[in-house]
Amino acid sequence: MAAIPAYLAAATDQHRAALRDLVRLAHEHHRRGCDMPDACAGRDVMTVVGRLDRDRLASLAFTAIAELAEASGDEPDQDLP
Ligand SMILES: [Zn+2]
Repeated sequence: MAAIPAYLAAATDQHRAALRDLVRLAHEHHRRGCDMPDACAGRDVMTVVGRLDRDRLASLAFTAIAELAEASGDEPDQDLP
């Protein structure tokens, strides 16, 4: 794997940190008794995501997709973790 430029690594780290914050909010929601944890991240996540501008939202989605692709390994047809 090629080394990524420092500016891109820094941006990716920021995106991952933002995603972790959103995942924490989703976990809190699930712990409060969500009925559909496989499909619902909760109102707090929706509120935060709803306030993101288009570029920020695209960056977070791109980073999340890359993380899921990496986590799913060489089996792209498998269900994601
Ligand atoms: Zn829910």
